[in-house]
Amino acid sequence: MSQKFYCKYCGSSSSSISGLTSSSCSKNPEGKKHVPYEGDEKSKYYCMYCGSSSSSISGLTSSSCSKNPEGNKHVPYEGDEKSKYECKYCGSSSSSISGLTSSSCSKNPHGNKHVPAK
Ligand SMILES: [Zn+2]
Ligand SMILES: [Zn+2]
Ligand SMILES: [Zn+2]
Repeated sequence: MSQKFYCKYCGSSSSSISGLTSSSCSKNPEGKKHVPYEGDEKSKYYCMYCGSSSSSISGLTSSSCSKNPEGNKHVPYEGDEKSKYECKYCGSSSSSISGLTSSSCSKNPHGNKHVPAK
């Protein structure tokens, strides 16, 4: 079975992680290389910061995100789809990522909104 690895910041793909991480990424806010997306392949990808969705990682990461504290593009949520999402900083929960990320979090050290745990 051939597996593909996708960059979580731009959606570029490669047949190996080493191939992916040795290439430059124009959208990585912290570094210069692609960073592998560690979640499963899904029919829909949701932004972990705002809950916006797209059918592909490249589609999601090519749109601007108003809630990403570290960059300005959507970043795919790497966890599974759940009936309840919990904030990794404070444990608050919501039935959707968009619901969770629209509420303020007093414990998030990087921003001021809840961020779903994987
Ligand atoms: Zn990339
Ligand atoms: Zn977003
Ligand atoms: Zn929180």
